[in-house]
Amino acid sequence: MILTVTLNTALDFTYRVPRLTPHASHRVTDVTERPGGKGLNVARVLAALGRPVTVTGFAGGSTGAALRAQLAEDIGVRDALLDVAGRTRRTVAVVDERTGDTTQLNEPGPLVSPAEWARFLTSYEELLTSADAVALCGSLPPGVPVGAYARLIRAARAARVPVLLDTSGEPLRRGIAARPDVVKPNADELAELTGSHEPLRATRDARRRGAHAVVASLGADGLLAATPDGAWQAAPPAAVRGNPTGAGDSVVAALVAGLAEASPWPRRLTHAVALSAATVLAPVAGEFDAAAYEEFLGRVAVTERAGAA
Ligand code: ATP
Ligand code: MG
Ligand code: MG
Repeated sequence: MILTVTLNTALDFTYRVPRLTPHASHRVTDVTERPGGKGLNVARVLAALGRPVTVTGFAGGSTGAALRAQLAEDIGVRDALLDVAGRTRRTVAVVDERTGDTTQLNEPGPLVSPAEWARFLTSYEELLTSADAVALCGSLPPGVPVGAYARLIRAARAARVPVLLDTSGEPLRRGIAARPDVVKPNADELAELTGSHEPLRATRDARRRGAHAVVASLGADGLLAATPDGAWQAAPPAAVRGNPTGAGDSVVAALVAGLAEASPWPRRLTHAVALSAATVLAPVAGEFDAAAYEEFLGRVAVTERAGAA
């Protein structure tokens, strides 16, 4: 099975209003509530592709219970989340129906105690014994040490389980130094890490910091990968209009599946670009347009970048 880690799970609410105006009261035309957090999106996409997948991380309080109940309805996703004393955070997205613009409110998440973190490490090491690959996704909740991902990467390497990291800021910086198999920064995360806005230079620089492979996601421009086997650029057939939230999580889903199979890099990148472009077409994060995915698979352009590794 593939294991995804979401330390900072969330219950995501989306409110739609005809027009968002400061200081005004709004009539809500539609509201949805669903489990959120990057590793949960990755798991949902993998399950839809028919892959056995287990999710771990923390959930707590009434929001944690709601998250778990809804996760149980996601066929093919096994819940190995640990209880935390605090309440799972909520995120609120307010969509202005006139412009389509989204205003996002994110709670920081519950405080994780040292005892809860220690319990997580024990459970994670046990889950690694039956994992073919692991994806570490998203931000860290308060209380979890900033070097947490570095610790989880070292444990995966000791267990000989290939590991992918998708996070930002200091947890990314420290995580890379622990030598993960793959990191998947987006353009902003890569620029923050390396100080360079030139993707090729920044991708190379990130690889020198310790990651075996760096796959930078560049929005509608697709992916730029620097790997031990070479460097490639992979582009979608055309820019797609839709909802890009969660497109990066679909890149992670395809790359972690490729890690589990040890498939050739051009094949992994083709799947990652087709799946993420098909995710932009689906209105909610963690879902993709299956027909478009099949169609895009035959139309992704992968080109080798000589000397870029
Ligand atoms: P996330 O919100 O999931 O964290 P991200 O910022 O990490 O996303 P992006 O670089 O925005 O990731 O997008 C990931 C991938 O999705 C891109 O590399 C590309 O393959 C695909 N993608 C994103 N936007 C578009 C688009 N407009 N058209 C086609 N493909 C897209
Ligand atoms: Mg983005
Ligand atoms: Mg992302």
